[in-house]
Amino acid sequence: MKRDLDNRPVPDNPRYDASMHKFFHNVPLGEFTAALALQEEQRFRDLQTSMTDPRNSRMTLVTLCRHHAVTLTDLQDVWRRHQVNLGLMAMSTFAPKVMENIASDAASFTDLCPTCRGKGKLSRKSKSLCPRCSGHGVIQKPGDLESRHIMMQALGVTGDAPLVANFNSFSASFGPDQGMEKIIEMVQVRPGRPAEPEIPT
Ligand SMILES: [Zn+2]
Repeated sequence: MKRDLDNRPVPDNPRYDASMHKFFHNVPLGEFTAALALQEEQRFRDLQTSMTDPRNSRMTLVTLCRHHAVTLTDLQDVWRRHQVNLGLMAMSTFAPKVMENIASDAASFTDLCPTCRGKGKLSRKSKSLCPRCSGHGVIQKPGDLESRHIMMQALGVTGDAPLVANFNSFSASFGPDQGMEKIIEMVQVRPGRPAEPEIPT
């Protein structure tokens, strides 16, 4: 027994590394190799090349990993990050709709006047109009406070660290060659400078 770079005890012959064999048995290989190809670290991309090279068909994946100094912890980390990235991509698809909902929740709305219950007068015989709604029967109510706070912060109008989506760098650098990490990084909403307050004209 020796130890890998993460101090995990491993058998001298990689063929008998049951834990790593189990890992490869449990991940969809096609997707895992795609995840390797997107990694910034060269050794992961080299591993991906070796895995797909027909000349290595007689070698076990564990042997190839050892050859490229890739540990079981590395493999698990690559897979975990890849899955999180896919999740973020899926989430970002819903972002426009959710943001629209937040804006809709934040908007003021009209509601039945609670004082006159929509009648405009306090009683049927009363000649004076309801003091709260001036006889309209409805009042204007502010939208959801939390949604208003999120929206104003997202727009960079309020807050200590307003959230500003970096749309320019997204559209400029988005391309088919970008790794998943880079794409995710670009679609993420990040803290930015507050917008300059508008001067009333
Ligand atoms: Zn009223």
